[in-house]
Order: sequence, then C-alpha cells, then structure tokens
Amino acid sequence: MKRLTALFMALFMGLMPGVRAEEAALTLTPAQDCWTAQLFAMDTFMQLTVYDPSLPQQDLAEVMDNVLRLEKLLSATEPTSEVSALNASWGAVQPVSSDTRTLLQTALAVSAETQGAFDVTAFPLVKAWGFTQSAYRVPQQDELTELLEQVDYRKVLISDEGVLLPEGMQIDLGGIGKGYTGDVVMQALREKGVTSALMSLGGNIAVLGRKTDGSLWKIAVRDPQDTTQNIGYVQVEETNVVTSGGYERYFEDEDGNIWWHIIDPETGYPARNGLLSVTVIGPGGARCDALSTALFVMGTDEAMAYLRGQTEVDAILIDETGRLIMTSGLRDRFTLMGANANREIVWIE
Ligand code: ADP
Ligand code: MG
Repeated sequence: MKRLTALFMALFMGLMPGVRAEEAALTLTPAQDCWTAQLFAMDTFMQLTVYDPSLPQQDLAEVMDNVLRLEKLLSATEPTSEVSALNASWGAVQPVSSDTRTLLQTALAVSAETQGAFDVTAFPLVKAWGFTQSAYRVPQQDELTELLEQVDYRKVLISDEGVLLPEGMQIDLGGIGKGYTGDVVMQALREKGVTSALMSLGGNIAVLGRKTDGSLWKIAVRDPQDTTQNIGYVQVEETNVVTSGGYERYFEDEDGNIWWHIIDPETGYPARNGLLSVTVIGPGGARCDALSTALFVMGTDEAMAYLRGQTEVDAILIDETGRLIMTSGLRDRFTLMGANANREIVWIE
C-alpha cells in the first residue's frame, strides 16, 4: 500500500512540473480521534497531531502552510530566502517581514542574555566547518581567527526601516527557527479553536493544552550516549520541550575526533564544555530553542549558574559522564525509564 502511494505520488509530481517536491510532500491523514500532518521541511521530519477530528482538512493545510512560508523566509542556505538577502545586504538597511523581525529580535535578546553563547551571527563559522552543505572539514586556526572577527551579535542593528548588517557578517536562525515555527503553528491552531495538539520538529516538541482525556503529555528525553534509548520522560502541558545535542549532526575527522554542529562563538570550534545534551522546557519555543543551544555552549558549570538565576524555564542537562542535572521544577514531573532507573540526578535548587 505504502509503495503504491509512493508510486502515485511520484507519478503525480512527474505530471505536475509546477509542484515542488517538498510542497507535495505534505501528507494529511485523518483518524478517529485526530489528524496527523507530516512534512519534511527545515532539514527535519516534522509531525503534527491535532486532537480534533472535526477540524476541516483545509484548515489543517493552512496551518501547515506556515511551515513552508517560514522555511522560505528563514533558510540561510536557500539563495532566495529573506535571510540570504539580508546576508548579502552588507552596510545597507534591509527591510524584513514581521516574522523575520520578531524572530531576529528574540535571537538578539537571547544572544545578549547569554553573553553571546548563542550568537545569531555565528553563520560564517558554521559554514567554515561545512555544516551548511554537509561538506564537513576542520578549518585551520588562522581561518577561524579571521572569521571570529565577523561574529558579534551586538553589531546587528534593527530599526523601523529594517536590519543593518556590517560588512562580512552573516546571520543564521538555524538554532532558533524550528522553535519559532512551533510557536507559529500552535498559535494558528489556537485561532482555529484547537485545544489539544502535539508537534514534533526534529529535537523540538511543542504541545497545545493537555491530552484530550485531561492527562499530561509524556515527552521522552533521549540518552545522548545511546540515541536508540530514552533516559526518561517529562510530563507537561501547554509548553515546549526543546533539545540540543551533539548527536543531532556531527562528523568524524581523519584522527577520529568528533565535531558537532553547535559552535562556541568564542573559540570558533564546536562547543565541548562538558555537556552532551540540553533540554529546555518552557513557554516560547523560539526562546527555548535558542536557550538550549546557548546552555550547550556554556557547558556544565555556566549553564547551572544561569539556570539557578532564573525561574522561567526548566532544563535537563546530561554531561559527558552520563550524569543528569535538572532544575528543581522537574522534581514531580520527570521520571527515569527502564535501565536508567538508578541514575544519579543532581538538582539545581
Ligand atoms: P538542532 O538544529 O539540531 O535542533 P540547535 O537548535 O542546537 O540544534 O541548533 C544548531 C544550529 O544552530 C546549527 O546547525 C547552526 O546553524 C546554529 N548554531 C550553531 N552554533 C550556534 C551558536 N553558538 N549560536 C547560534 N546558532 C548556532
Ligand atoms: Mg536550538
């Protein structure tokens, strides 16, 4: 059956040269108690489950249109995107859409709040390591030293007219865009009257309300040392659960070193500061997404200090020894699973 569907899809797309493959790849599947929408976008498999079978299919399609709209605006690797236009606009004020403006403002706010651990201008470094085209390489120190001069979020200026990027600088919303997309989709669902939904966008989960039986959602947290296993799960409602992990995208060089896609904007090298994964739980998917990247860069001690000083989000840090470090807000909401039942947990009070 699946093979037949694929065949029909291929024929259909072949007959319709105007339909781009990624647009045609949206599937909407009704079931007794829900709708499921699946889409490959932003380099990630996305799945949205809406617990409202009476929602018109057209409404669900409209909700999912947001994902493709945002991808076209925000992709730093798509030459026709708004971000690419911005990255080529050096020294001149570039007008931007309200989505790009809102997201860039959040990105700059988190960049400032984390003192550049998240830095929206890290794109030249991300490119140098080959993460944008999966053409991985280890850059020379000289090259990184030179590129580091083009990395500084404080030099990005936003005004009513648009965004001003100094010569040589380039932005990348890859560490925050999926979180924002979750926010936009959840808001679109709310406006359609939906009260219960779950969306997964790679390492990001966004949930709307509770499950229809009134219980909390159970969201699994993966073991970064064995990604086929879950360490445990959190029980949540109306929130985001966003994970940044070295295991999401990485390569091994000739000497057997592992380099992953989260870069420390201070050194230009992939961040290796004691952590293997960071999960952030809280309101605002965009903020949580940027924060998960930032805490990963900060490393164990700095991330713990940051989390101690705030009450807005909860977090789960997993370090290189497999130790779990969590904010105390999760005491009644996190459960260890299976073989991990006896793992040590360090609580951040
Ligand atoms: P994922 O995309 O796997 O969910 P993240 O949310 O942590 O993971 O985002 C990683 C992406 O963010 C990288 O692929 C890169 O585009 C960008 N990035 C890497 N390092 C930084 C950084 N220090 N600050 C901001 N963005 C970064
Ligand atoms: Mg992130």
